[in-house]
Amino acid sequence: MSLTVLATNDDGIEAPGLAESVRHLLGIPGVSVYVAAPDREWSARGHAITITEPIYADQMPPTAFGVPAWRVSGSPADCVKLGLNHLVPTGVDLVVSGINNGPNLATDVLYSGTVAAAIEAVLAGIPALAVSITRRSTRRGDYNCAGRIIRLLVDLLGDAPHSPYLLNVNVPPVPPGEIRGVKMTELGPNPYDDLVKTTRDDNGRECYWLKVRPAEEVARAGTDLAAVAQSWVSITPLEFFDLTCETRLKSIAPVAHQLQRRLLNDVDLSAES
Ligand code: MN
Repeated sequence: MSLTVLATNDDGIEAPGLAESVRHLLGIPGVSVYVAAPDREWSARGHAITITEPIYADQMPPTAFGVPAWRVSGSPADCVKLGLNHLVPTGVDLVVSGINNGPNLATDVLYSGTVAAAIEAVLAGIPALAVSITRRSTRRGDYNCAGRIIRLLVDLLGDAPHSPYLLNVNVPPVPPGEIRGVKMTELGPNPYDDLVKTTRDDNGRECYWLKVRPAEEVARAGTDLAAVAQSWVSITPLEFFDLTCETRLKSIAPVAHQLQRRLLNDVDLSAES
C-alpha cells in the first residue's frame, strides 16, 4: 500500500488525540503522514474559513510528530485547504481528522470542526475519516483504542480507489475491553436541550454560557447515539453535497409562483413602500 495522509484536528496541534492518530497512522506500512493543525482550539466552530486576514503556517520541529507538521493560525478547514493545496508536496489520498476530545454524534456534526475538516477534504474530492472519543479526556492513553481503530480502518480501506467517502467514527465511553463491536449507523436526532447559563464576568457585567442537557427522548435503534450508548463503535457515512430539500421544492412551489406574479405586477419595483 502507498498512501499519503494529511492529519488534522479541531482541538489544536498540541492535543493528545492528534498525536495518537499520527502514531497509529505511522504504524501502517506504506503510509506517509503530514500534519497541518490549528494553533488553538476550534471545537464547535464548524466550517469556518479565514478570508479577511492572512494565515500563518509554522513548521514544527521534527521531534514533535516525527513527520512534516505545521502549526496553522486558521481553522480546521483552513488547515485542510492549506495542506492539500500548498503544504503537502505530493497528492493526498486521505484526510484523518481527530482524534477529537468528545463526541461528534447526531446534530453535533453541524457544529464540529473535526467533521468540518473531513467535509473540506471530501469537497476537494479526497476521502476522510472524522474520529472522536465520546468520553472526554486529555490523557493520551485514552485515545489509544480510537487510534487502533484508525489504523485498522485505513489498513482495510487500503489504497484502492474509492469515491470520496466521509466516515464519522465515534468510540463509546467504555474501557476498550467492554466495547461490544462496530455498528454502521445513521445520525440520530438532536440529543440536547439548550440551556443559557447567566453569570457575571470579572467586571460585574452580565454574560452568558451556552450549555446543554441531555434530551429526554431515548435515541432510536440504528442511530449513532444508540450505538455509542450501548458500547458499540459507531460509523456513520456522511454526505453534504446536496442539502436541497426535495419535498419543500415541490410544496413551496405555489408560493414562489404567487411571489413571481405579485413581483411582476408591481408597477415600480424600486419604489419604497
Ligand atoms: Mn474538538
